This record gives sequence, C-alpha cells and structure tokens, in this order.
Amino acid sequence: MGNQTVDIVKSSLQALVDDKSFLPELSGERRKKAFTSLLAILSTPNHVNKSFLRIALENGQVVRIPAYRVQHNNILGPYKGGIRFHESVNEDEVVNLAALMTLKNALHQVPFGGAKGGVVINPREFSEKDLYVICKKYVQYFSDSLGPDKDIPAPDVGTGEREMDWMMGEYKSIRPGESYRGSFTGKSVENGGSLGRREATGKGVYYTFRYLMHDFLNLQESWLAERDNPFAKTVLALKDKLLSVAVQGFGNVGSVVALAAFQCNHLNNKVVAVSDRNVTLYNSEGLNIPSLVKYSYANNGDLPKTDEMVKLAGIKAEILNREAVLTIDTDVVFLAALENQVHGENKKDIKARIIVEGANAPVSTEADEYLSAKGVVIIPDILANAGGVIVSYLEWLQGRETQFYQEEEVYQKLYEKMKETFDTVLPQFFADPYPLRRNCNIHAVMKLSMIMYRQGKLY
Ligand code: GLU
Repeated sequence: MGNQTVDIVKSSLQALVDDKSFLPELSGERRKKAFTSLLAILSTPNHVNKSFLRIALENGQVVRIPAYRVQHNNILGPYKGGIRFHESVNEDEVVNLAALMTLKNALHQVPFGGAKGGVVINPREFSEKDLYVICKKYVQYFSDSLGPDKDIPAPDVGTGEREMDWMMGEYKSIRPGESYRGSFTGKSVENGGSLGRREATGKGVYYTFRYLMHDFLNLQESWLAERDNPFAKTVLALKDKLLSVAVQGFGNVGSVVALAAFQCNHLNNKVVAVSDRNVTLYNSEGLNIPSLVKYSYANNGDLPKTDEMVKLAGIKAEILNREAVLTIDTDVVFLAALENQVHGENKKDIKARIIVEGANAPVSTEADEYLSAKGVVIIPDILANAGGVIVSYLEWLQGRETQFYQEEEVYQKLYEKMKETFDTVLPQFFADPYPLRRNCNIHAVMKLSMIMYRQGKLY
C-alpha cells in the first residue's frame, strides 16, 4: 500500500498499543499479537480491481482505458468512496485514497468502509457521448463488486451528478428487480440525490474552519490561553483579526469554500486569492466571489484567465500563475485541488498559519512535519472534507426510506455530525503537543481496531 497510509496506520497503532486504557483486556503476548494483526489488516487493501475498459469512441476508434476500483476495508459497513476521472490516476494513488476513505468514515462514525475508483482519462478531452459510454462500461466491468450494501461509489475529481446518474442507470439495467437507489450517491436531485450533496464537501470544509476559529475559540479562549501549546498560540493570535484567505481550486469544493468564506458573518474574512488549473486571481482588498462563481459557472468551470476576461467577469484582480495561490501572504489557505500540492520543494514558501485540506492528501508528509513544527495548524483531509461522504450517507438513507429532507435539514444534520467529531478531537489536540492529523488518525484507527477486535478478526 502507498507509504503514506502505511505510515499513518503504523504510527497510530504504535500510540494505541502504548495506551493501556485502550482494550485493557489485551495484555502481554496477546496484545502484541492483536496489534501485529491490526497492522497487517489495515495496511493492505482487501481488493484491488483493475480493468482495461474497451471503449468504442464516437470517432470510430476503439481504445482501452485503465480503470480501478479499490476496496480497502469494510469492517464498519459497505465500501464507500468516489470515482475520479483524471489522467494522473494510478494504482498507488487509488489504494491510498481508498484507505483514507476508511479512516474518514471511521473518524466521523459514518457506517461505511473505504473504497476509491479511478479512470485514467482527462474528461475534458472526451465528448459527452464518450463519457457516457465510459461510465456505462465502468459499471459493467465492476458490477460484481458494486451494490447498495456492498460498495457504493460517489463523485470525486472529474465526476459529478451526471456521471452518477448514468452509472446508476446502468446498474439498474444490469440487475433488474434489485434495489438500486443506494447503489450510487451524489446523483442529481431529480434522480434520487440529496439536496445539498453538491455543496456538501465545500460547506463541510468551511464549517471545520469556522467551528475552530469561531465556536471553539470563543468558548475555550481562556482554557487555550493556559495551554503551553504552539497550535493554541497560533489560533489565539488570529482571534478577532480580519483574516486573509486564499483558496486553491475553484471546482465543486473550492468555489463553495470561497463563497462560504465571502458570505460568513461569524468571522471577518477577506478572500484575497483564488486559483484553478490555469491561473491565480489576486486582489489585496478582497475578490468579488459571487461574480467569480457566476463567471466560472457560465465558462465551463474556468476562472477568467486574461485581463479582458477579468473585466468581463465584472471584478478587479491581478492575474498570477496558478501556483502563486499557495505562497501569497495570507493567514489561511484552503487546499481544494489535488494531492501533493504543498511538498518538500515549496514548504518553506508557505506563509499561511492555518491550512485546511479540502482535497485528499494535498500536503505531503514531509511538508506536514516541517509546517507543524513551526506551529502551522493543518486541518487534515479526513476531518475537513468529510462533508461529501456524510451527505452521501444521508442520501443513501433517504433513498432507503424514499423520504427526502429539505436542504436546510441536510446542512443541519451535516453540521451536527461534524460537530460531534470536532468535540471529540479538538480538546485533545490542544492538550497534546502533536498535530491534529495525528489525533484524527488515532481516533479513526482506534474505532476500526475496536470493531475488528469485537468481531473476532484479530485471533
Ligand atoms: N469523493 C468524496 C471523498 O473523497 C466523497 C465520497 C463519497 O461520498 O462516497 O470523500
């Protein structure tokens, strides 16, 4: 399995084996054996499915497209995780992302396991008809391993409700008479999707930050001030400040985060930089995010990339290269693009004191260690970006009951679920000298270990 997740599992288990209050009934040789079993189980995926989809393109050519469905672990429930369409998809990456889903669901007490899918294409290079065929073929090739109580895919990078609708349609044709509504989540509302699912990841990402910097900070200010903790110092130094914010990525997650930051009346934010695959837009006075959202919606998801287009969008901004968003002098940066964006090469140029991971694994282990040692608070992916899978769970439940919630009800349930997790991890984070990621990983691994032990999987 990818090094990153093996390291996570190893170090979390190490912390747990030393914590005698965890599974006290296991001691001595038995304890050692059980933890060795846990490491073996959690650091390996249950299944790695790979196929080469045979696709007859609209132009008459037949091509083979590599596709994956990795099922990491299902001790907590059916496998769950998105399918991404991106040219950089590879086996190691999908395996890593599947393991992150296991941890994410365990951390937030979502009754699902972890999986991930991927198709090695740049979807922008294919016609709508070709993408439709690719979606159908994906379901045909992997249909044996999918299903509402087996493995439930959802959107990820490069996919959305259109793809989920097509895939569910194909699933239904392959298995007539079987239940199908819960076979895919992230579907369109008309097709059994949940209100608020499209916005859920971005809303949850921003909510994580707001909860820390507003709700938690206001309630715990004096307790935090008494802590000799570098991360407590970081957040206290930013309290009540006008917070400058940068957002990397302006897709389904980044645009929702930027808008939430712009509209937030709990915190005093100024969104000074946003970026996409082409450019960074910068304005030290703050960008007009609603106008940018409107522009990108009307222009294939792109931000304006020339001065003329900036004018057309009705905003004022300087155009910088797309990496500039990471190193601009801001208090906060939200990473809502792809993995490995902050790494060994650029870690020293990061100026933000708070980093929020909207994407999966956007900060490399090396950069994480370096920045954490400097007191930078990194809100990790499995904590911050779980909004998507939490509302996927709500969609799955609504599909079972064929009763649907109002949009506000969905957000309310989402916030309640995330709040429960924050209240579990934040007090301990500020009490210990360790980064938040470590704390979240330990919580997730603890939950998985406990259930595995109770189900008799360790002996
Ligand atoms: N792709 C999203 C994630 O990485 C959502 C997964 C889901 O809803 O199953 O969390």
